[in-house]
Amino acid sequence: MTAQLIDGLALSKQLRAEAAARAAALTAQGHRPGLAVIIVGDDPASHVYVRNKVKACEEAGLHSLLERYDAALSEAELLARIDALNRNPSIHGILVQMPLPKHIDPHKVIEAIATSKDVDGYSTLSAGELMTQLPGFRPCTPYGCMKLIESTGFDLRGKHAVVIGRSNTVGKPMALLLLQANATVTVCHSATPDIGHHTRQADVVVAAVGRRNVLTADMVKPGAVVIDVGINRNDAGKLCGDVDFDGVKEVAGWITPVPGGVGPMTIAMLLVNTLESAERSLKSA
Ligand code: NAP
Repeated sequence: MTAQLIDGLALSKQLRAEAAARAAALTAQGHRPGLAVIIVGDDPASHVYVRNKVKACEEAGLHSLLERYDAALSEAELLARIDALNRNPSIHGILVQMPLPKHIDPHKVIEAIATSKDVDGYSTLSAGELMTQLPGFRPCTPYGCMKLIESTGFDLRGKHAVVIGRSNTVGKPMALLLLQANATVTVCHSATPDIGHHTRQADVVVAAVGRRNVLTADMVKPGAVVIDVGINRNDAGKLCGDVDFDGVKEVAGWITPVPGGVGPMTIAMLLVNTLESAERSLKSA
């Protein structure tokens, strides 16, 4: 059996087109949605990520405010900038690109972002809202994974989902979202002795580790939905995920490729969260 491909690029384009329509409707009411992106220092990869986020905003008609700071910016100065953005009514989402220079505490910075503008969903309050099913913002990558699963028409209710990885930004929120969709969820991590024992019973597997071949064909139940969050390089330097794609696609029912799977969804969900924030602020105005 050859799995059907879950095309994250196509789905993200559709979501971005829908985002553009929502942004146009808000702008017509004099309430253009705005995202502020802060980057500190000169990490080249971070600059590429930030450029892509700003470009996606502009293409969808959102206002984007890019603030670039030298690595010497102090923590107090950064916190003051966040405070100003928290109070700026034309900004509905605030994102601080990680990593930050070592002298700045990333936790302090994330916690300084108003929960109503935390479109990355990384703060402890946002995490608490997700945990207790309050209407906060879901972290973009797991939220995008849920959209990818939804796009297959697969009903998660009563199904067994296995998440490999338990980071605060991907694995844990992913497990919570699957639980909220009524799946029975198992979380595996670096201390799990036999991951295959769990994944072989899974209807859905989400791999979010950052290591090649964490999931191989012998670890997958025939017909399962496989979502690959990982970003790695193979021996030839080509981008690849955590899943042995060529082997697993012969067993799984559905599979995301890397690149072109989860990656494009993350930016699309950032736009969705920013629009949601702008719509909420208009309602409460
Ligand atoms: P992370 O913070 O490093 O977490 C990795 C998780 O994998 C940890 O929970 C770790 O377990 C677990 N792990 C490590 N080795 C393992 C092993 N051999 N078997 C099972 N579990 C193992 O990484 P992350 O931020 O969650 O990201 C995971 C991957 O997704 C990375 O490749 C990252 O680049 C990618 N990513 C992609 C996107 C996207 O948009 N496509 C977005 C975010 C992340 P312990 O907790 O026990 O250490």
